[in-house]
Amino acid sequence: MASVSPCPRPLSWSSSSVAPATPPPPPYRSSRTGAFPRSRRRSSFRLRVGDGKGNGRPRALSARAEADVLKEDVVIVGAGIAGLATSVSLHRLGVKSLVLEQAESLRTGGTSLTLFKNGWRVLDAIGVGSDLRSQFLEIQGMVVKSEDGRELRSFRFKDEDDSQEVRAVERRILLETFADQLPPEAIRFSSKLAKIGRSENGETLLELVDGTRLSAKIVIGCDGVRSPVAKWMGFSEPKYVGYCAFRGLGFYPDGQPYEPRVTYVYGKGLRAGYVPVSSTKVYWFVCFNSPSPGPRITDPSILKNQSQELVRNWPSELLNIIDHTPDDTIIRTPLVDRWLWPAVSPSASSGSVVLVGDAWHPMTPNLGQGACCALEDAVVLARKLANAVNSGNGSVEGALKSYESERWPRIFPLTIRANLVGSLLQWENPVVCSVRNNVVIPKLVRMGPMLEHTNFACERL
Ligand SMILES: Cc1cc2nc3c(=O)[nH]c(=O)nc-3n(C[C@H](O)[C@H](O)[C@H](O)COP(=O)(O)OP(=O)(O)OC[C@H]3O[C@@H](n4cnc5c(N)ncnc54)[C@H](O)[C@@H]3O)c2cc1C
Repeated sequence: MASVSPCPRPLSWSSSSVAPATPPPPPYRSSRTGAFPRSRRRSSFRLRVGDGKGNGRPRALSARAEADVLKEDVVIVGAGIAGLATSVSLHRLGVKSLVLEQAESLRTGGTSLTLFKNGWRVLDAIGVGSDLRSQFLEIQGMVVKSEDGRELRSFRFKDEDDSQEVRAVERRILLETFADQLPPEAIRFSSKLAKIGRSENGETLLELVDGTRLSAKIVIGCDGVRSPVAKWMGFSEPKYVGYCAFRGLGFYPDGQPYEPRVTYVYGKGLRAGYVPVSSTKVYWFVCFNSPSPGPRITDPSILKNQSQELVRNWPSELLNIIDHTPDDTIIRTPLVDRWLWPAVSPSASSGSVVLVGDAWHPMTPNLGQGACCALEDAVVLARKLANAVNSGNGSVEGALKSYESERWPRIFPLTIRANLVGSLLQWENPVVCSVRNNVVIPKLVRMGPMLEHTNFACERL
């Protein structure tokens, strides 16, 4: 088995050997319900695999490798937004899944995400919209400023589209809300996927870094931008787009003072913004050009200092919000995307393995659509898969292909558009920036068409 082999070639997988059963691995959230017959059965196999480089020469694994194998029906790799939204959607439709997450717990740090009406349609369909709405402010509009604080343009979302809904949602709370909808056994933490391969009977073999092995009928790769599942399916690494983002969540225990609108400040090769999340929290970001992704910096005081230096002479509220930011919420991310060229990119599914969210379509955050699209993916896939699994209407592989056909025309243009918008906003040339700030933004940009991509119809699951 190999996580890095680009070729999902069948592996030799025979059931001739019996190894002693080992105790169940660590912490499952326990499972209570589900119509799809649960088969966390343990089987013992002798596993023979190809060499993982696509050469296909089977080799016997060591005695250590002759271990028990947990049999699962649906395994989701990654307990991020895509993984949990998919698991909850499947659960609502009577299909149980096991989510494998490499971390010890749900992501507790991190900042927030702006969700537009398409994201809210999905959250309503899943049944968690009302709960989340009550915790996050509705954002009324946006204002665009130049670096000297001059207002270039402002919009009210509802003036453009009465049905628009925009809120910045804390990632931690979104993940916890999803997890609360699942049976306790549905998420298995400290479960990093190390290897993936395919058995001769068409099932997918997964090996975790702790040595646990699973065999799954269906695998859904929700393992983010550096997805090992996508790599195994032949996808290239996402491409760095030439700029990075600092992000943080300012905290004002006595109440934050900002209006419920998104504020963007556009400079030269540099932009920043902030949006109130709740009565006490304000999300901010600073995007800066950088020829390379640069070193990984985790020291929050350095990150805070670097982000403040970038906007030192900009509208003072930015510095104020960064000052109010607890260390554990500041992160720096090199931004990447991957364009899913027709006939060139691998398919989103291979046999009964499929990708969802950033694992399939990493996109830059310039339209605020990465998570929204991951949510859309989740409900579309869950419906098709549940239909195939529950009613026997068509094959699982057919359902996965149908998911890709429906989602690709939505995802591909958005990925490109987000990239182009980012290039426009990261321009450094002073003349071009002056035209952008004095002509394009004040006179030419129309908000309605800019947000048409947030239209997405979705029935309750
Ligand atoms: C700066 C920035 C701002 C953004 N702003 C917005 C916004 O405003 N609105 C919006 O809609 N989107 C936004 N996004 C995009 C959004 O964050 C992503 O699209 C979204 O998080 C994708 O979710 P995901 O579940 O696909 O991936 P992730 O959130 O990356 O989750 C992947 C999960 O898989 C786990 N995992 C990875 N490898 C393994 C493994 N080997 N084994 C087991 N588990 C594994 C990870 O630990 C993680 O929990 C932004 C992104 C960035 C970078």
